[in-house]
Amino acid sequence: MLRKSLSFVLSHRIRQAVPFLSSHAGASFSFSSSSNTLNPCTSLEDQTNENNQDSRPTETISIDRSGLYNPQDHFHKLSADSKLVNHLKSIIKFRGGPISIAEYMGEVLTNPNCGFYINRDVFGACGDFVTSPEVSQMFGEMVGVWTMCMWEQLGRPAKVNLVEFGPGRGTLMADLLRGSSKFVDFSKSLDIHLVECSPTLQKLQYNTLKCIDEAISEDNTATRTTTTLNGASVLWHADPEGVPSGLPTIIIAHEFYDALPIHQFQKTFRAWSEKMIDVSEDSSFRFVLSPQPTPASLLYLRKRCEWADKEKIAKIEQIEVCPRAVELTHQIAKRISIDGGGALIIDYGKNEIISDSLQAIRKHKFVHILDDPGSADLSAYVDFAAIRHSAEEASENISVYGPITQSQLLGSLGINFRVEALLKNCTKEQAESLRTGYWRLVGDGEAPFWEGTEEQKPIGMGNRYLAMAIVNKNQGIPIPFE
Ligand code: SAH
Repeated sequence: MLRKSLSFVLSHRIRQAVPFLSSHAGASFSFSSSSNTLNPCTSLEDQTNENNQDSRPTETISIDRSGLYNPQDHFHKLSADSKLVNHLKSIIKFRGGPISIAEYMGEVLTNPNCGFYINRDVFGACGDFVTSPEVSQMFGEMVGVWTMCMWEQLGRPAKVNLVEFGPGRGTLMADLLRGSSKFVDFSKSLDIHLVECSPTLQKLQYNTLKCIDEAISEDNTATRTTTTLNGASVLWHADPEGVPSGLPTIIIAHEFYDALPIHQFQKTFRAWSEKMIDVSEDSSFRFVLSPQPTPASLLYLRKRCEWADKEKIAKIEQIEVCPRAVELTHQIAKRISIDGGGALIIDYGKNEIISDSLQAIRKHKFVHILDDPGSADLSAYVDFAAIRHSAEEASENISVYGPITQSQLLGSLGINFRVEALLKNCTKEQAESLRTGYWRLVGDGEAPFWEGTEEQKPIGMGNRYLAMAIVNKNQGIPIPFE
């Protein structure tokens, strides 16, 4: 009963709050043809120095990472070896044998010198792929509504850690903070923690959040970084373990889990073999199968199969396992069980064991996984069933909800009210951009209203992206997972 009335109050609040989300946003649409247009292909500096302008492209429809298809297998011969290729080859050479796909993926994405994410901006029309926050400001605003509701359910604490894993350009957080800035008590309560391994993206996030450094000692040696979007303090951490404990914690992970390294296993006539990466005689990379069980097959594959339906396992030829996702979820659940709060995980994936989903995307096109490593994004479907098991195993004090589709999440959080409110006060071009963005976030399949070229037809992300919440049981059921 109490739960019911609380959720009524909260959904009533959503209806009241959503149309009134702060509307600096009106100035933050992007219009490819207006005079204050930002060229989506300008440099980082150019883009982030513009006041409140938004580089979200409206005319270029780019690919998201939810895997429309997998590329054909082929061998790839490299022309000149990059720094990362040399590094990978030397690991294989000194190891005296192949490396796992997880090790390859970890190096390719986050090697501190030359990983894919480390030295550049990979998002948007001029990057490699597009994500929901880059599609429309409404995405970050709706995640902001979820965050405010969680803060309400926590009893409006005076201080709360708001953590985002893998903030990319910082767009989601900026839209969340702008949209919620009228809610003063909420804004004042936030200590923001951004978990980001890329120094380049950390700088970009600093600019997107319009951060400033304030001296906090008389000799100016100690400084504190705050965002001028709402005055909250901002700290960066290279990995999730760095986020301090001791405060109620709200965690957002959007398209973070899909970047975590996975192992792949292949069913053979004898048993499951791990798929590994080796260097062939012509010096190109190739896949090989491990002749014996590997540590990963003994540790992680066995555990994942214990969680799965035996009939399903009997039917599939390949299995992907993400130990880092299991470990991270464990940490999140433990933290939330002790400090209170909740986590919202949004990603593409399935609520079951994943078979074969690893994919590489460069400049909005699918390429081969072994093709010029470091120049293409690698990602894999998120195994939401494994996340649930791992969280439930970590603590009895937490509950896991979902996954529900992105369309259900954003719809219940009030995106329809928000789009209506924004449509009331905009130009024809802005309305077009809003409608396209709305469709991409909540629609399914190809947009029926599209009048542009076939290849630019927007594909809705509404049902391919899923959302799951992990919350401390004391907080009750999170909106909108009732
Ligand atoms: N959430 C953003 C970006 C998603 S891409 C958006 O939706 O637009 C993945 C993000 O996670 C990037 O910012 C990348 O640099 C970061 N990242 C990937 N692996 C990481 C790791 N192991 N540790 C910390 N950050 C990581």
